[in-house]
Amino acid sequence: MDKADGLAQARQNLADYLRLNSLRNTPERNALLEAIYSADAPVQAEELAKVMSEGRRLRISRATVYNNLSLFEDAGLVRKVFQDDRILFERTDKSKGVIRLVCDGCGKVTEMSGDKLRRQIAQLRTRRFNAVGWELRIYGLCSKCTAELKRKQNRLNKKDKDKK
Ligand SMILES: [Zn+2]
Repeated sequence: MDKADGLAQARQNLADYLRLNSLRNTPERNALLEAIYSADAPVQAEELAKVMSEGRRLRISRATVYNNLSLFEDAGLVRKVFQDDRILFERTDKSKGVIRLVCDGCGKVTEMSGDKLRRQIAQLRTRRFNAVGWELRIYGLCSKCTAELKRKQNRLNKKDKDKK
């Protein structure tokens, strides 16, 4: 499933969800969904509001963006991601899985591409479960925290030697 297929499917799911809940399907809603699905990384609501008012000549208030984001979340089309004290939103379809490296020292989160792993996960069969997306978290220490830890260890070693 490539990016365009993902968006087409998401549009269809949104239309179904809106119909089921007796809500209107508006150009604004579709444009917002498209903005999220065409982004390469998770985006902030603020950013989305900006993008919407700039490129598309659709006047969408910030409140509308927030309301629709929670509607998309209910519909299973987007999910929240917490990153450096910020709340971001990302698409949920399976083609857009994410691999994150999480530093146990400073909490920094970075994404990695991992194409081979992505392909393997895309082929996974999930019994009695309709998978729509995935996230893999790898825990450890970033290079900054690793260097910091080494400095601390060196200081401790030095103190030990000084005592002797
Ligand atoms: Zn770190």
